Amino acid sequence: MAKLESKVPNGPLAEKWSKHKNDIRLINPANKRNIDIIVIGTGLAGASASASLAELGYNVKTFCYQDSPRRAHSIAAQGGVNAAKNYQGDGDSVYRLFYDTIKGGDYRSREANVHRLAEVSTNIIDQCVAQGVPFAREYGGLLDNRSFGGVQVSRTFYAKGQTGQQLLLGAYSAMNRQIQRGKIKSYTRHEMLDLVLIDGKARGIIARNLVTGELERHSAHAVVLATGGYGNVFYLSTYCMGANVMAAWRAHRRGARFANPCFTQIHPTCIPVSGDHQSKLTLMSESLRNDGRIWVPKKLEDAKAIREGKLKPTDLAEEDRDYYLERRYPAFGNLVPRDVASRAAKERCDAGFGINKTGEAVYLDFDSAIMRYGREKANTMGLKDADDKKVRALGEEIVEAKYGNLFQMYEKIVNENPYKTPMKIYPAVHYAMGGLWVDYNLMTSIPGCYAAGEANFSDHGANRLGASALMQGLADGYFVLPYTIGDYLADDIQTGSISTDLPEFEAAEKEVKERLEKLMSGSGKHSVDFYHKKLGKIMWNKCGMSRNEQGLKEAIKEIAELREDFYKNVRIPGELNAMNSELEKAHRVADFLELGELFAVDALNRNESCGGHFREEYQTEEGEALRDDENYRYVAAWEYTGVPSEAKLHKEELVYENIELKTRSYK
Ligand SMILES: Cc1cc2nc3c(=O)[nH]c(=O)nc-3n(C[C@H](O)[C@H](O)[C@H](O)COP(=O)(O)OP(=O)(O)OC[C@H]3O[C@@H](n4cnc5c(N)ncnc54)[C@H](O)[C@@H]3O)c2cc1C
Repeated sequence: MAKLESKVPNGPLAEKWSKHKNDIRLINPANKRNIDIIVIGTGLAGASASASLAELGYNVKTFCYQDSPRRAHSIAAQGGVNAAKNYQGDGDSVYRLFYDTIKGGDYRSREANVHRLAEVSTNIIDQCVAQGVPFAREYGGLLDNRSFGGVQVSRTFYAKGQTGQQLLLGAYSAMNRQIQRGKIKSYTRHEMLDLVLIDGKARGIIARNLVTGELERHSAHAVVLATGGYGNVFYLSTYCMGANVMAAWRAHRRGARFANPCFTQIHPTCIPVSGDHQSKLTLMSESLRNDGRIWVPKKLEDAKAIREGKLKPTDLAEEDRDYYLERRYPAFGNLVPRDVASRAAKERCDAGFGINKTGEAVYLDFDSAIMRYGREKANTMGLKDADDKKVRALGEEIVEAKYGNLFQMYEKIVNENPYKTPMKIYPAVHYAMGGLWVDYNLMTSIPGCYAAGEANFSDHGANRLGASALMQGLADGYFVLPYTIGDYLADDIQTGSISTDLPEFEAAEKEVKERLEKLMSGSGKHSVDFYHKKLGKIMWNKCGMSRNEQGLKEAIKEIAELREDFYKNVRIPGELNAMNSELEKAHRVADFLELGELFAVDALNRNESCGGHFREEYQTEEGEALRDDENYRYVAAWEYTGVPSEAKLHKEELVYENIELKTRSYK
């Protein structure tokens, strides 16, 4: 098994990537035609990688479990994508994006990767504009920007509240061109169930055709996993229902290290949980924090009256409202990073100020923005004497133009008009910063197995700043992998195609078959969802927004017991060798039941608080995260040894040569 070597090139930080591109090996076009690459996943990372690799001349096979590549979870991204273009002239630069990202991640990411990300961010916008992605534009025709949390510049490019969808249409079109040319073979409704290694190298996969239930073998010279994040281990999250960890977990079981699994992002602005029947949570985009102000009542009795329906938020005078983010963090106000905003909401709700029936919600209020925009508009229209009613109507029009689809979505779900009454929001699981450990070339610890996008442990450290996941997925797929993968594949120009009749394929297929049969043989007492919900409850209560030693120890034990019970008693109707969506779900939940345990082990190991990982034992007097740079300035990369709780820890020490380690403050 390969050692944990980050392979960060030598030289000054700002020159590392250019130097690396000049140093690594190339493959000539004729040889590329003899090389096969499997890409699992067609979200932004997978689609951009497949399109670029096929354009370069490689033979690409893509896989996704949806019925179309363009249904990947990336399509849900609302707010935007960051790039250091400095179109606003507000002081942005590659260095500032690099700095904000390292600080945002609470100094738990690799400097060289983050700098490369900031460098190529500008190319992403050019590439997507060339593809026809309809980014929002200002009146003069230039691309518009807005601000996201944790930064003091406007660098987020957006397409209304549908940025992910528009970017994915761009990447999907590029992919489609290659499908048409025959350079990409697209396998939809196919799920990768295992990775096949030959002589220690990733050489193929076992996939299940989800329509027929048949198992298939596919070979290649390299395998790219762009399979998204694992936040659904919490059951309730803002992810699409199908998002899962299977591909990454199967690679982990085959030897790939799994890094920082406990670094999970909780997003502060989601529609609150309404009851036990729920299977999905909905995000209200961070872009709303540009204009929305977050508050709870100042007095406990007002909060109680609101909860009991005796008082309306609009009845509360300005002086009776606590805009707690503006109060606690004057420099960043409502735009503090997500972990900070989420914890602050929890703190207020735990103290009894929550404003919905469950006591777990705060307000996101657009009234000030509506009046501010309305007044500006009235002035530009020459309506100096416009009354409040007119101003409000003008302001609502502007807010609708900016966030209309999000407001509509909120009204449909909650049945309240957010133009007239503040939105209710609460934090929810949203993004996985942890994932497969990769080196600078995005290769996992299995030679020939790469991970891109949210599936890798990525560039975001302990907390992802908003609008940085799309940036990273597209950077990986369009601008990093197409270079770095060639360096590895240069050894394969004479290998020839890999046979799927090799014993390694046979053995892997047999293992998968036995696993599926084991799942089907449960006593039938409880549904798959029963177990998934139980797991989610353990995760949320003991490994969620805040964690402590005792809770984590309990979680490890409870998850192991739940897993045992799952295999004994799960109910999977239908047949093994046919379309069977319960079997699909069961297989995904089986892997969540292992990942959850490792997650808790990782959180227990990290005796510090940083970014999205908040250990109650490690906080300042003011309740802020307390890092321990001396002992925990490392990436925790876990090696599978048979049982998740017995995984072996490998540490990649993080070296900060270009940035000073500071206490992270947004005050
Ligand atoms: C509601 C919401 C809004 C967001 N808004 C933003 C935003 O505004 N800006 C931002 O930067 N980020 C945002 N994010 C985060 C961002 O959308 C994701 O991190 C990103 O899109 C992930 O892209 P990806 O390509 O890595 O994976 P995904 O888009 O999740 O794609 C995963 C792909 O892998 C396939 N797959 C998975 N497992 C298997 C398997 N075993 N076999 C075969 N195929 C498999 C799936 O079919 C799919 O094609 C948001 C996230 C959510 C939930």
